[in-house]
This record gives sequence, structure tokens and C-alpha cells, in this order.
Amino acid sequence: MKALVYHGPRQVSVDDVPDARIEKPTDVLVRITSTNICGSDLHMYEGRTDFEQGRIFGHENLGEVVEVGDAVDKIAVGDMVSAPFNVSCGHCENCEHGLTNYCLRANEPGLAGAAYGFADMGPWPGGQAEYLRVPWGDFQCLRLPEDAREKQDDYVMLSDIFPTGWHAVEMSGMKPGESIVIYGGGPVGLMAALSAVTRGAAQVMVVDRHPDRLRLAEQIGAIPIDDSQGSPVDQVMELTKGRGADRGCECVGYQAHDPQGNEDNADTLNKLVSSVRFTGGIGTVGVFVPQDPGGPDELSQQGKARFDFGNFWFKGQQMGTGQAPIKRYNRHLRSLIAADKVKPSWIVSHDLPLDGAPEAYKRFDAREDGWTKVVLHP
Ligand code: NAD
Ligand code: ZN
Repeated sequence: MKALVYHGPRQVSVDDVPDARIEKPTDVLVRITSTNICGSDLHMYEGRTDFEQGRIFGHENLGEVVEVGDAVDKIAVGDMVSAPFNVSCGHCENCEHGLTNYCLRANEPGLAGAAYGFADMGPWPGGQAEYLRVPWGDFQCLRLPEDAREKQDDYVMLSDIFPTGWHAVEMSGMKPGESIVIYGGGPVGLMAALSAVTRGAAQVMVVDRHPDRLRLAEQIGAIPIDDSQGSPVDQVMELTKGRGADRGCECVGYQAHDPQGNEDNADTLNKLVSSVRFTGGIGTVGVFVPQDPGGPDELSQQGKARFDFGNFWFKGQQMGTGQAPIKRYNRHLRSLIAADKVKPSWIVSHDLPLDGAPEAYKRFDAREDGWTKVVLHP
């Protein structure tokens, strides 16, 4: 089959690789019809992780079931399914508690949490390919409704960024009627904004510096804050009459590639603490690579952040962090899409065949104007 293969920093190509196949009775084999490029892929694409050459990218996957193992009895051939990016068994102690983001069986012993096509997240090949093997298929596959084929660009967001944005808002503790500031207007930040709007925020502010991304935020009723035009903290303070936002989300993560981005690991975290009111809450889904051997300075090499814990403590705030547990939210968000209450595909800038992936990676990585979210259709 054809798949997008990693060959070293910023080097990917579509290669012929051995077909994905059923290996265990609990496996489901999916023919991928939609698979996204994600900001998380860039951590590996840019060579900031120990992602091995020869591995296949892709953790935001949707497709049609073409074969099931003997022990699979709920998911059937012909089903259109979304596969959460977290690979999870469903029965370990963490999965039993709903913590599918920290499954104890899907990674090496001693490591919790796994994903398709990811560094340090288990051996699983990604889905930027013609076929994907989904282990523990009955547990993992989310069956999609009849309109799945027509609304693929909406449903494909269920495997990661829509639930991840939702989780960021959830961790911030936001209640209806509150204000919230989101740092990062990339796909994840825009999904956090969509989630906050859907959940009844009175005021949603999105901080970024790319006009195309800020425009998308504005389209769903969020207030765009361009941090190239002055301190985002001052702008938030002005918009909230000096009080600060009730809640905040970090949807940037460590940005080694962006010369204007996080000067150190904690730039956005410190700005968030300053932008959010006393006793407010923050949800951090932006990825902070524990170790960045290729990073620009000693600090990033140590994987540490100059986080101003003093200010955070002084303001009595709370913060949630980590990978999102997709299965906690995906069935509810599926219903919102099915009922046409939300349309997460509004961020999609490009629908491309798999062959378009190498070029798309280059442009998405460079944050080229108009390259917000790429959906590949192998
Ligand atoms: P992205 O890199 O396209 O988006 C980041 C955005 O932040 C960009 O638009 C950039 O201009 C903006 N930005 C950079 N520095 C900034 C700053 N100092 N202030 C405000 N904005 C700034 O990627 P994405 O796909 O939106 O992903 C965002 C983050 O979320 C990544 O770190 C990704 O790995 C992470 N992520 C986490 C999870 C999870 O489960 N926790 C899931 C998916 C993605
Ligand atoms: Zn992703």
C-alpha cells in the first residue's frame, strides 16, 4: 500500500510499504478515506523527537472498515468509523477509569499512553496511508452515522482536534456565561474556540499573529487578538475591563520553528497566567516536548520551562495538562455534527490526495498563509 513515510527532519515521501493487516483477533482493518495533518506531526517532522526513519505518520483517521478479526463483534465490514488518536485497550486500570489517554497496555511496559504514528507513543503505524490497523477495534472505533461519507471533513476532526479543543475548555473549568482567552489560533486553538462558543461562553478571545487564522476565529464569533500589534495580555485586560479572562487555554505548545513564537518553553503559559483572573482556570493541550535534543538552547534541551510558578500560585489559579482522552467526548461531538449544530470543517483549507502530503507538510510547517488544515484522502 501507499503511505507517507518519515525519512529524517523535513523529509517525507509517499512510498510503497507492506500492507496493514489484521494481526490479532481484536483488530479492525480500516481503508482510510480521510486523514489530517496535525500540528503534533510537526514535532516529529521537524526532527525534534526520536521518531524513527521509515515510520508512517498520521493519527487523525477516518475510514471504512474492510476486515475485522474473529473476536470483533460490534464493528462490522462497511462501517464508517473514526479512530481516536489515543491507542487504548479499554481494560487496563487507566482505561477502566476513562483515561484512554494513559492506556497501560498500548505502549511499552512502564509507559502510559499511545498514538498512531507518534514518537514515544508505542509502535503503531499511522494512518496517512491506504489502510490502518486499529487494535482493540470494538473498543476504539467510533461508528459514524449515514451522512459520514458526505461530511468526512467534519467527522474527521473527531479523532483528535475537536475533542482536544473541547478538553482544553473542559480543563479550564469554563462555565456558560464566562469569558475565555485561547492562545494559539491553529487548528487546535480554533477547535477550542468553537467548543467555547458552543458551550455558551460570553466572550471568546483568540490570540495569534496569522491573519488567516484570526479571520477563522472571527467567523465563529470569537474576538481576534493579533499579538504582533501589541501585548496580548494588555489587549485581554482591555477587553475584560482590567479583570482578566475567567478561563484560558494553551493551544500553542513548544514552537521551535516559529522565530516569533515561544522564546522559551513557557512564553504562552506565563502570558496565560497574566491574562486570566485570580482563581481562574487554564487548560493546556499544547504539547511541551519533555526533551528537545534539537532545541535552540540549553533550556529546551533539558525540556524545562521558565514557568513563573510564583505568579500562578499568587493568583490562585488551576491548570490541567496533557493529551486529550478522545473517547470521553467523541460520541457527544459526533451528535453535534450529525445534528448540524457545529461544522468543524470550517477550518479546512485543503483537501488533497495522499500524493500531495509532502508539499502540504512543507507549507503547513511554514505556516504559509491559507494553509490552516490539510485533509488527505488516500
Ligand atoms: P499549530 O502549530 O498550527 O498552531 C499553533 C498556533 O499558535 C499557530 O497558529 C501559531 O501562529 C500560534 N502561536 C505561536 N506562538 C504563539 C504565541 N506566543 N502566542 C499566541 N499564538 C502563538 O498547531 P495545532 O495543530 O493547532 O496544534 C497546537 C498544539 O496542540 C501543538 O503543540 C500540538 O502538538 C498540540 N496538540 C495537543 C493535543 C493533545 O491531546 N494535548 C492534540 C493535538 C494537538
Ligand atoms: Zn493531531
